[in-house]
Amino acid sequence: MKLFNSILGLTFLFISSISLIACGQNKSADNTSDKKTDNFSIIKTNDDWKKELSIEQYKVLREKETERPFTGKLLYNKEKGVYKCAGCGNELFTDEMKFDSHCGWPSFDKEIAGGKIKKVEDNSFGMHRTEIVCAKCGGHLGHLFDDGPTATGMRYCVNSESLTFQKEMAVAEATKTKNNIDTITLGGGCYWCVEAVYEMLDGVVSVTSGFSGGTVANPTYREVCMGNTGHAEVVQIIYDNKKTSLDEILKVFFTVHDPTTLNRQGADEGEQYRSVIFYRNNEQYKTAKSIIDELNKRKVYDNPVVTQIVPFKVFYKAADDHQDYYSQNQEKPYCKMVIQPKLEKFEKLFKDRLKKTDK
Ligand SMILES: [Zn+2]
Repeated sequence: MKLFNSILGLTFLFISSISLIACGQNKSADNTSDKKTDNFSIIKTNDDWKKELSIEQYKVLREKETERPFTGKLLYNKEKGVYKCAGCGNELFTDEMKFDSHCGWPSFDKEIAGGKIKKVEDNSFGMHRTEIVCAKCGGHLGHLFDDGPTATGMRYCVNSESLTFQKEMAVAEATKTKNNIDTITLGGGCYWCVEAVYEMLDGVVSVTSGFSGGTVANPTYREVCMGNTGHAEVVQIIYDNKKTSLDEILKVFFTVHDPTTLNRQGADEGEQYRSVIFYRNNEQYKTAKSIIDELNKRKVYDNPVVTQIVPFKVFYKAADDHQDYYSQNQEKPYCKMVIQPKLEKFEKLFKDRLKKTDK
């Protein structure tokens, strides 16, 4: 029966699409017996997946390997947030569904509703198991067992490598004090500089350095510097609308970086240094657009503004030693030569708007 299914599957694949075979959905066709699950909305070649995923992610998601137990980075994660497919960002689980299973892999007793996960019969290694894959990209997640200790009785046993985690802090904080607290993500060249400036602005609740706008999940600083991830260095700013406004935040933004140089800030060159505003709603879009139109109309700069205005998708926080970089490294030449002048310019122009607490 299995053999028949495989042959049928392969024949079907061959007739229906040459490209499907080229991307080699599965080198071992007997690994999954249900080839009907090939109608995923995201289909990429193995080469493309290799470019987008880390080696470990690729092995698990695309080659169905299993990470060693008790090694995954999300195993003990207890923060509030959403677990997404590391291949395509499909939202699969929330923190509320996670439980300690002591089996060595992140475990969940439920999935986010809506058919985001497909179950596939798996008879590999002489066992009878249910494999779980992302319904969007087909990425291997792990297995589903019916020995869960909670009311659902289910245990979704998932590789950390198959998942990315998005902390809910920003979202939660925003809903807590609705209307007052807002979030905007801005790329204005080196994030160390931009972060240092906003730390000083009154009304800014928090500033986090990270990456946005690219195709690689959880990129490292090194990967972004290589310029192949598509990400921009950004700061994510949570601000209080009672004390400041997006208007003011963007005025600061256009003061402390040069929005007219494409993919470059001073000596920092590359797509990761592009000038970009990631908006979260129509209002933010309109504010950004009108300020840029105004700057161009009044010819504030010698050249036209090239700042991109694009919808926000996901933000990846940079490593801890990249946060508060300026205040931690004031003696470093880059801080003295590049960041300090920007801070001085900001302090001069916005002197009434600085945070009252002295740092
Ligand atoms: Zn996926």
